[in-house]
Amino acid sequence: MWDRGKGINLVRRRKRNHLQVMHDSTFTALGQARSDWDGGLLPVLTHWAASFEARDRSGRRRAIDVAIALTGGTELATSDVKQPDAAYAEISEGYVRLTQSVADQFAYFQAALPRLHAMPPGQADQILDGMRSELFRHVGRDVPGQHNEYDDNSDVWSQFVDRQSVENLVGAAVRWAMAHEFAHLIPDDVEYRAAQATVHGLLRAASGWWGNAEQRDELVRDYIAVGYLLDSRFASEDLPVALSGIVLGTLVLGFDGWFLDGSEEADTHPSPWFRGDFLPVMWGEHFARLATERASTLRTAADLHGLYDVADLILYARWVSGLYRIERKGRRDIREDQEIYRNIVVNSVGVEAISLPPELKRLLDRVRLS
Ligand SMILES: [Zn+2]
Repeated sequence: MWDRGKGINLVRRRKRNHLQVMHDSTFTALGQARSDWDGGLLPVLTHWAASFEARDRSGRRRAIDVAIALTGGTELATSDVKQPDAAYAEISEGYVRLTQSVADQFAYFQAALPRLHAMPPGQADQILDGMRSELFRHVGRDVPGQHNEYDDNSDVWSQFVDRQSVENLVGAAVRWAMAHEFAHLIPDDVEYRAAQATVHGLLRAASGWWGNAEQRDELVRDYIAVGYLLDSRFASEDLPVALSGIVLGTLVLGFDGWFLDGSEEADTHPSPWFRGDFLPVMWGEHFARLATERASTLRTAADLHGLYDVADLILYARWVSGLYRIERKGRRDIREDQEIYRNIVVNSVGVEAISLPPELKRLLDRVRLS
């Protein structure tokens, strides 16, 4: 058994110099009063860890016994088992803040899409590119030295921000990072090999991508983490937000360290756009394997609009990664992709899609064009 108290001591020793730099905005994003903070330990993170049922087959490695800390430093999220009886996971303040700034503009993107769909492609492309520069300015990840060349246009999108939705998304992305770290800590060899066989099978069947061993290992951890998340109480309460946390959290992990067109893969991680495509495949696989009862509990926690939001967030992640830029060779049409991803997400959890009758769809298209 892991001793949570020993895990906490481990984090405290490790992070002695990084525990006093927290920003109030980080606490706001986590819905937690600063006064509750206890040297890197936030009750809300401990509470979230306890909502995961994740454990290995022997029951000796359990999510609830992992010490979770909110820390400073440059790594977004990390975890380790330092002694046989102490495990910890750290979520960095930088991850929370980056997640929040990326989430800030999602509502604006979603609101702008129907209007962009009605514009001539060239004009829509220009606006999408401008929005993207604004996002990078806001997130503070634009090309170094050129930061001041961009005007602050936050007045354009800030009126669309819904604080509560952003906080929900940030919380869900933090839970996803926790699930991913648990997936590094908890599984035994047998569980790992089973997940690995599934992921390799999916990769062979669903994509032309194979990558290197380290990159594939990250996908196996993602797959295990998807299972932990879908088994958690959180997913039973609000499946779309739980799934959104997977998409946003993955986008942010890939976002860290990119510049304006950073949709390339790294040595240790697959490219974010590939993960964006592959994650619904993985959670779809998990859904297909769930007990009927569990699957129907989760479907009850998902409404169609919520699932469309998840799909739009995938579209947002693809857009952020530069896939729809004018310069991009063989780029796809964002309007077509919106429809495709809505179908993919709805199908992945087995909810029947409601599709418009063809004549109504034609009529709507005519209205959009005029
Ligand atoms: Zn990892």
